Amino acid sequence: MFELNDTHRMIEDMFRQYMMNEIEPIIDDVEDGKIPLFDPLRKMVETLGIRSQMDALDLSRPRRADSGEERTPNPDDPMEGMEVIAGNLLVKEMSRVSPGAAMSFGVSTGLAGGTILAKGTVEQKETFGRPLMKLDQIGAWCLTEPGAGSDALGSMRTSAVEDGDHYVLNGSKTFITNGPVADVFVVYAKLDRGDAGKEIQNFIVLREDPGLSTGTAFQKMGMKASQTSEVFFDDCRIPTDRLIGGEQASKSRDHVKEGLSNERSGIPSIALGMIERCFEISVQYAKERVQFGRPLIDFQLIQNRLARMYVAMGNVRNIFLRTLQHSIYGGQTRLDVCMGKLYCSEMATWVANEAIAILGGYGYMREYVVERLARDAKLLEIGAGTAEMQIITMGQELATTWKA
Ligand SMILES: Cc1cc2nc3c(=O)[nH]c(=O)nc-3n(C[C@H](O)[C@H](O)[C@H](O)COP(=O)(O)OP(=O)(O)OC[C@H]3O[C@@H](n4cnc5c(N)ncnc54)[C@H](O)[C@@H]3O)c2cc1C
Repeated sequence: MFELNDTHRMIEDMFRQYMMNEIEPIIDDVEDGKIPLFDPLRKMVETLGIRSQMDALDLSRPRRADSGEERTPNPDDPMEGMEVIAGNLLVKEMSRVSPGAAMSFGVSTGLAGGTILAKGTVEQKETFGRPLMKLDQIGAWCLTEPGAGSDALGSMRTSAVEDGDHYVLNGSKTFITNGPVADVFVVYAKLDRGDAGKEIQNFIVLREDPGLSTGTAFQKMGMKASQTSEVFFDDCRIPTDRLIGGEQASKSRDHVKEGLSNERSGIPSIALGMIERCFEISVQYAKERVQFGRPLIDFQLIQNRLARMYVAMGNVRNIFLRTLQHSIYGGQTRLDVCMGKLYCSEMATWVANEAIAILGGYGYMREYVVERLARDAKLLEIGAGTAEMQIITMGQELATTWKA
């Protein structure tokens, strides 16, 4: 089984220090809208050297992670898969402090930037992909619509009509992470040739494109560090050179499915960060808090909670490592992706609620962090396809591809 080596652990530790020293002290102000999230995130990519790495990225060839080919591990190379591992460790460590920040960062770099780097032409990668990876620009990934959530493809209404060397987009998207602040929108629309066609086309739309507008940020239960809004297309004209990967390549339902799969594969990293933090806070509190003349950790009902939280953390960590292994060496199935998304999201919610129970009234207070993690955790069960959709997909896979 894949494990982190000493270099990975050093990087994990460096990210943890950074999050605790630089992000934790300001996160309440970010959640309250006093500090724009991407200001500290830009400083982070600069300080942690991510910016210079993105400058050095050779975009003329497909990234290994995007090639889809399976590879044999090379035990003599401690840097193998470093890009993938460091990226996931960064998201995990950010999620210990702010899952909302991790979500906005992940959508901008992983989903919007990642889609362009994986599927775009070399020119699109340079013009739009690289600035997104460096956070010079902010990205959004637009699939969900007011009438198309779980049935995102079947019920999609946003249409694209060809008009000379442009496409004209009409419709709206909702619940779009980074919607209010994004510069670059990766947008899925149904190709309308007047024939009720089912082809989905994938566009890069820019904030300054005429006909694009965004709503005000929604008030949400959690993930408050991340802004979410509607995105509207009103005769929005997009030149054909902004079809991702060119005319033929951009016409694919597989793009959407790969995007969703990437999003789902990021959930174990977010969940593990949240669970680790909740667990650590809970153990520390249970050792310090005295009731009936004894620390809470002496009571078996508290031990039961902590022991079960520890089991969940171990399982989620294993899924996190297995997901890393698949991302580096290939071999991931839809069953793996949905299993990880379903289990890790449910465990994040469960562990965060257990942490609140252990902290009692203090757990309900902002100062003790776990209330934020509990509110944020619920979104992991909804976004990137609800828990029910993971179960339905797994059921279909078991019925069709699974061999006993
Ligand atoms: C904070 C936030 C950020 C988001 N960010 C983005 C983003 O950046 N980009 C983007 O494109 N989308 C985004 N989403 C949208 C998210 O992916 C959808 O909310 C999600 O896919 C569910 O769609 P829905 O909300 O329309 O629920 P619905 O599809 O209406 O489902 C409602 C309920 O019915 C259940 N249900 C639906 N169909 C079935 C069925 N066949 N059988 C059993 N149960 C069923 C669902 O599981 C759910 O419990 C975001 C959502 C939130 C809340």
